[in-house]
Amino acid sequence: MSAHPANGYVTTHAAQPPVRLGHHIGGRHVVQDGGRTGPVHDPATGTIRADLCYAGKPEVDAAVAAAAAAFPAWAALPSPQRARVLFQYRELLEREQASLAELITREHGKTLADARGELQRGMEVVEFACGIPHLLKGEYSDSVASGVDSWSLRQPLGVCLGITPFNFPAMVPMWMYPIAIACGNSFVLKPSEKDPSCPLRLAELFSEAGLPEGVFNVVNGDRQTVDTLLADTRVAAVSFVGSTPVAEHIYAEASRCGKRAQALGGAKNHLVVMPDADIARAADALIGSAYGSAGERCMAVAVAVAVGDAADPLVAALAQRVRALRIGPGKQAGVDMGPLVTAGHRTRVLSYIELGLKEGAQLVVDGRDCRVAGHEQGFYLGPCLFDRVTPAMRVYREEIFGPVLVVVRAPDIGAATALINHHEYGNGAVIFTGNGRLANWFTRTVQAGMVGINVPIPVPMAFHSFGGWKRSLFGPLHIHGPDGIRFNTRLKTVTARWPDLAQSAGPDFTLPAAR
Ligand code: NAD
Repeated sequence: MSAHPANGYVTTHAAQPPVRLGHHIGGRHVVQDGGRTGPVHDPATGTIRADLCYAGKPEVDAAVAAAAAAFPAWAALPSPQRARVLFQYRELLEREQASLAELITREHGKTLADARGELQRGMEVVEFACGIPHLLKGEYSDSVASGVDSWSLRQPLGVCLGITPFNFPAMVPMWMYPIAIACGNSFVLKPSEKDPSCPLRLAELFSEAGLPEGVFNVVNGDRQTVDTLLADTRVAAVSFVGSTPVAEHIYAEASRCGKRAQALGGAKNHLVVMPDADIARAADALIGSAYGSAGERCMAVAVAVAVGDAADPLVAALAQRVRALRIGPGKQAGVDMGPLVTAGHRTRVLSYIELGLKEGAQLVVDGRDCRVAGHEQGFYLGPCLFDRVTPAMRVYREEIFGPVLVVVRAPDIGAATALINHHEYGNGAVIFTGNGRLANWFTRTVQAGMVGINVPIPVPMAFHSFGGWKRSLFGPLHIHGPDGIRFNTRLKTVTARWPDLAQSAGPDFTLPAAR
């Protein structure tokens, strides 16, 4: 891993004393707190890796002021020139992929392979944003009336704010800032306080790629920092990704303050297994999707809906695979699942397992006594599998966000789809079947923003948009892809006539119509 001693957040040895992490403001790492700091853990060992400065009003002011000052010149730069900086950034991300993945694994806990996958998905958004000259093309109508043309253009909003969750410290911020910045906005990111090092390094690399000072800033902190950012009148738009209660609050508060807002929330994704499906394939898909990243993914499948005769063989195939999962530190080769992000989160997930037992669900695989030799203080929890879960149970209704898969049995496809449609969340829904007509019906009927057919995680590519329905998304627009361009720009429509001054028509008191 390359060393960046000036910034301190790229360290190599867990045994080192905690480093002090600050913010990226005006192109520099600024180590200053607003009177509060918080610990950043290495979940694999349970040790404190860093002391994170939480931004107070002075730090937030400095970041927003830097972004506001940088905005006019950046917005005025022709879009092909902005694209060139993004092309350069793409190169640096490729070069640094391994060290960035290490930063993610060290603070989040996921495996290195998974961290690299997350970065790849983020880099694809940068690649999409490299096409900004094409993406910003407006519409043109020649001769909408005699001598009158009409055309449209998309202009940037100003200072955009992104608030992101712990589970994808690179990919989720990268859903937001590359597109916002390519559109000509400046950006302030408030990443999760649980794993801030990768976002800081992403900002530093953007500066290295030639991004002017102040166009991209990172301020660290918690809800108080977010409240200060939301109250700042210079912030024009807010993109949020995180849990549903916070998403709802951010959407309401940002809208109340007159800001454009989109807020992506929690999920409880279902995967329906029809009796005609290949059970082994469906079980493999469920295992990767439910337990990858220890279940800490918004697109993790948390509910397997076994239809009719599929149930018994599916539960047997799942149990066999769950018992074989290898748990350990994410940086260790051969590990399938790393620890949970914090001790507090582990306790919360454990409480759901107790609850499932109290509610009468059948715990087929119990991962509660998982121990990883040499890492006794790490935040590990083995994978758990519940069968015979019912829609009334809280382990079915609520998002657990850990390595816990619940199986619900349904008599037919109608009942399975009704389950999904009655759930409060609507992020992703998947069907495994060999019947194309049934899959087509499911696609059109199911109430979810992202649908999969015989695929484990239906995450749209960067050039499509990502978002859920119901209480998984607040606001009309999805994130990245075409909706990302719409969200980060304002539409302007121009009606233009260049008259022959010698032929004045005099005033017209009727609403102009085409003639
Ligand atoms: P979280 O809601 O606790 O935190 C998200 C961000 O909001 C963090 O930056 C945090 O500092 C800030 N925050 C927390 N509480 C706040 C408050 N009261 N006021 C203002 N800001 C606050 O989420 P998390 O635990 O970091 O992430 C997990 C959640 O994110 C899960 O619910 C998961 O489903 C969701 N998620 C959703 C998507 C999606 O695309 N829909 C993607 C990733 C994660």
